[in-house]
Amino acid sequence: MSTTRCTSLNATSDLITQLRSRGAKKVALQFPAGLKRQAAETAAALKAAGFAVVVSGDPCYGACDLALDCLSNGADLLVHFGHAPVDTRDDVLFIPWAVDFDTAVLEKALPFVPEKTVGLVTTVQHAHLVPAMEAFLSSKGYEVRVGEGSGRTPLRGQVLGCSFAAAKSAGAPVILFVGTGVFHPIGIALATKARVVALDPLTGIAQEVSADTLLRRRFAVIEKARNAKTIGILLSTKSGQARKALAERLAALSPGAVIVALREVSPDELLNLGFDCYVNTACPRLAYDDQIRFPKPVLSPEEFEILCGKRSWDDYAIDEIA
Ligand code: SF4
Repeated sequence: MSTTRCTSLNATSDLITQLRSRGAKKVALQFPAGLKRQAAETAAALKAAGFAVVVSGDPCYGACDLALDCLSNGADLLVHFGHAPVDTRDDVLFIPWAVDFDTAVLEKALPFVPEKTVGLVTTVQHAHLVPAMEAFLSSKGYEVRVGEGSGRTPLRGQVLGCSFAAAKSAGAPVILFVGTGVFHPIGIALATKARVVALDPLTGIAQEVSADTLLRRRFAVIEKARNAKTIGILLSTKSGQARKALAERLAALSPGAVIVALREVSPDELLNLGFDCYVNTACPRLAYDDQIRFPKPVLSPEEFEILCGKRSWDDYAIDEIA
């Protein structure tokens, strides 16, 4: 299957035009891990066009983690590649990374979708193909529902690992997620209670997704945390992950809970801190995806509420950042 990768601004000259129109002289560039190798070439092109350039070399996983230090160190504008904004700032230019595919690949998902009404969601890389995917599904007789962009997911039909709002607002009995990996579709299943079919558009593999395995694993993590005497409530200092009010509310639920402010939530840091268990208010995916790497139980906010008797297991919910 042929795939093409391209930035939404197809040439550096488009970027240069945008930077000039904003009056930028000194620009900072920030790339997520998968795009970092473009840093040298992009920086060289911008330097040749007369801009002073600094590249952020720190790890970056999303638009929730803006290199604001570059702005405070004198850059006029931060250019953040690969993601759509999770909040609006005048001093940041977002350049999403578009990954194309032939929308006929959606045919592979159709045997899993006997219903005639389907919700359609995808990740930022494929959001530009939503109209083409809608057209394909409509041509097959489906009523297609696509949630409007809002808040952290400004693009139509876009979901993030921390926001499934577009899936919820689609209001369909079955949701078709087009993208890679199973985290997003499992999150959608928990957030919507709808049936979820996942299609990887790059491999053509379609499957129905169940949240049962994740729920069993999370139940075990909550049980492991039962005897914890000391609880670290992790409060991220990243621009789009800091949930201070939530951290304070959770810390008030247990006398053993203390807020721990930190930038990177890593196994080494949690080991050094030495709490018996942690509650994650940073990127929600950390608790769900990385538990195996952590030395102690790391609960989501909702799981901590269950541990504290403030929520029932039947009311389990996936953590999302509002
Ligand atoms: Fe992605 Fe996590 Fe940031 Fe949400 S908080 S945008 S899931 S890295």
